[in-house]
Amino acid sequence: MSINTEIKRIYEVQSNPKNVLALRNSSYQDRIAKIKSIYNYILNKSNHDRIAEALYKDLRKSNEEVITTEMTPVILTIKEVCKKLKHWMKDEHVPSPVTMVGMSSFIKYESKGNILIIGPWNYPFQLAIYPLVYAIAAGNTAIIKPSEFSSNTANAISIMIKELFDENEVAVVEGGIPEATALLALPFNHIHFTGSPKVGKIVMEAAAKNLTAVTLELGGKSPVIIDGSTNLNSTAEKVCWGKTLNSGQTCIAPDFALVQENALDGFVEGFKRACEKFYDPNKKGIDQSKDYGRIINDTNFDRVLALLEDAKENGAKVEFGGEVNKQDRYIQPTLLSNINMEMKIMQDEIFGPILPVVPFKNKEDVTELLNSFPSPLALYIMSNNKDNTKYFLDHTVAGGTCINELMLTSVNPHLPFGGVNNSGVGKTGGKHSFMDFSNQRGVIKRKYGNSIKLIYPPFNKQIFKYFQKIIKF
Ligand code: NAD
Repeated sequence: MSINTEIKRIYEVQSNPKNVLALRNSSYQDRIAKIKSIYNYILNKSNHDRIAEALYKDLRKSNEEVITTEMTPVILTIKEVCKKLKHWMKDEHVPSPVTMVGMSSFIKYESKGNILIIGPWNYPFQLAIYPLVYAIAAGNTAIIKPSEFSSNTANAISIMIKELFDENEVAVVEGGIPEATALLALPFNHIHFTGSPKVGKIVMEAAAKNLTAVTLELGGKSPVIIDGSTNLNSTAEKVCWGKTLNSGQTCIAPDFALVQENALDGFVEGFKRACEKFYDPNKKGIDQSKDYGRIINDTNFDRVLALLEDAKENGAKVEFGGEVNKQDRYIQPTLLSNINMEMKIMQDEIFGPILPVVPFKNKEDVTELLNSFPSPLALYIMSNNKDNTKYFLDHTVAGGTCINELMLTSVNPHLPFGGVNNSGVGKTGGKHSFMDFSNQRGVIKRKYGNSIKLIYPPFNKQIFKYFQKIIKF
């Protein structure tokens, strides 16, 4: 059977109207039982080890990083959903305006139907499974297409899903662009895509052909602003952690730093110290650290290296790091100064462990520069100055912001997570995700009377007067 035929077959099994209806009308207990099966699966040691091994093979992620950045977010999402789902699924009664005497109104959250989830390679387990949990919570079927670049994890996900679900509810299609293209041609009810803005546009264009709704979790250049009032030691540690976690391959990693002139030397020193403290406490070399990851593949290694080389050729100074090993796909955490905006490193998302540092004098210089970039997924403000913090918040736009913290924009399920335009379309997390995967059907119910017949033709003057009164009221 060809790939296309197989993909169509799975889609048809899932989109069978009886199947969609049964899931749409399933109880919260049924949905929670399915979601809990994922929870129990990943808490089982041998399953955990298999997934962790796959993540090590794909990204050299340590088990500790697997626990903190791949498993824990999924487990916390499941706990939140299990706690809230009964409440989220209830019809939400809303007030009715004066023109609707005798009627009541409510929002019915019903499943959209068939969901397509396309995942990236950087957090390949978490970013395939957390949307799945919400898709199930909202009563949908789902096909997951994990990234082909993290093929070991894609396979581990496929094994897990086959064990836990019938394919009429959840299925995995492993593969790359041909498989994604075949899936995108099908009339899903919603597509949840996580990846680059470039491919996000391809997804949205394909979705438009079927008028399919989309959530696009994209990336871009997320800046960190560091002003002279901040505690430079702890700021440098936080930035170093954000930039080097998963070797800089995180959508909300600080892409570049804007540092106030009087804080520049202290920040550079603090960053160097933090890198050594995190990854080289015994002076054996950062490449020997079991806690430091690698670049996903040769293509991305060459891409990041080309950004570094271009910056150096155009005058950037390596303040720290700069060592690379192609065979091992290792790039040392690297800090660059003497940056100008024409360098490629200031134009493309870096998605690697290199931090360009741009000095600034006044807060106005910062916002003028940032507003020349597309709105980022995250913007970080490291400042103990209330006026500066408010100014930066009020004069920029971003999907999410942390003040005096880094990398936490997706952690609180009560906050919407997602980008703006180039960094994303739609918001996720907690009830935002549940709503994203639900059709919010507005329902009006006549309870008594029939006041509406007063506006049926033939029109009479008294009613016209009555409407004039309502307008004034
Ligand atoms: P990508 O856009 O290259 O690939 C993502 C997915 O799209 C993969 O499954 C891939 O197979 C598929 N794909 C690639 N080319 C395609 C095409 N032409 N047609 C159809 N499908 C195609 O992204 P990536 O390299 O996997 O991930 C890195 C990007 O993702 C970065 O920009 C990063 O910032 C972003 N990201 C965003 C979030 C978020 O939550 N907002 C999270 C992680 C990563």
